Amino acid sequence: MFSINDSFSLALLVEFTLFVGIRRFFQLRLAQAQPKSEPQGPASDRLLVLIESIAFFGGVLLYLIAPQTIAWATLPLPLWVRWAGILLGAVSLAGLLWVHTALGKNWSAWLELKEGQTLVTHGPYRRVRHPMYTALYGLYIGWTLLTANWLLGAAWIVTFTLLTATRIRHEEAMMIERFGEVYREYMKKTGRFLPKS
Ligand code: SAH
Repeated sequence: MFSINDSFSLALLVEFTLFVGIRRFFQLRLAQAQPKSEPQGPASDRLLVLIESIAFFGGVLLYLIAPQTIAWATLPLPLWVRWAGILLGAVSLAGLLWVHTALGKNWSAWLELKEGQTLVTHGPYRRVRHPMYTALYGLYIGWTLLTANWLLGAAWIVTFTLLTATRIRHEEAMMIERFGEVYREYMKKTGRFLPKS
C-alpha cells in the first residue's frame, strides 16, 4: 500500500509514527490521571484544531500513499536540504518529548484549565511561553524540506499559523485570568516562541 520507495518516505513514516507515539503516550497518562474537563476558548479554536489535524494527517498520508498526485508541487531542493529536513524533524520531536514531560498533566489539545493546574516555568518553559508550538513549527518546516513539496508545506504551516495566531491570545488571557500577576511577570521574562534576547 505504502510506496516506501525512497529514504524520504521512510523517514517521514518513522517520524510520523514517533509523533503519534509521543502524543498517545501522554494522552493515555493524562486519561488515567484525571477526569475530562470542559474546553475553553472560542469554538473557532476547536474548528481550527480539526482543520489543522486534517491537513496534518492528510498531508502525511498523501505523501506516503499517493505521492504522484502532488508531484506537480515538487520543490527543486538539493538532497542535502532534504536530509537537513529529516534532522530538523528529529530534533523537533526530541523537543516535543521534552515539552510534554515538563508540561505533564497540564497539557491539552484544546484550551482548558484543569483542576489543580499549575503554572509550569521550568525546562523549556523557563525562557519560552509556547515551546510546544515552536517544536511543531520545527516539525512542519522539517517535513516541508523532507518532502520537498510546497503544497504540503503550505497546508501544514498555514493551518498551524491560523490556529496559533488566534489561540495564543486566548491562551495567554486565560492564563492571566488564572495566575494573574504571576503570569504577567512570567511573560516579561519569556519570549513567545523563542527565548527573549
Ligand atoms: N502553549 C503551550 C502549551 C500548549 S498545550 C506551548 O506551546 O508549550 C495547551 C494547554 O497548555 C492550555 O490549555 C493551557 O492550559 C496549558 N498551558 C500553557 N502554558 C502553560 C504553562 N506555562 N503552565 C501550565 N500550563 C500551561
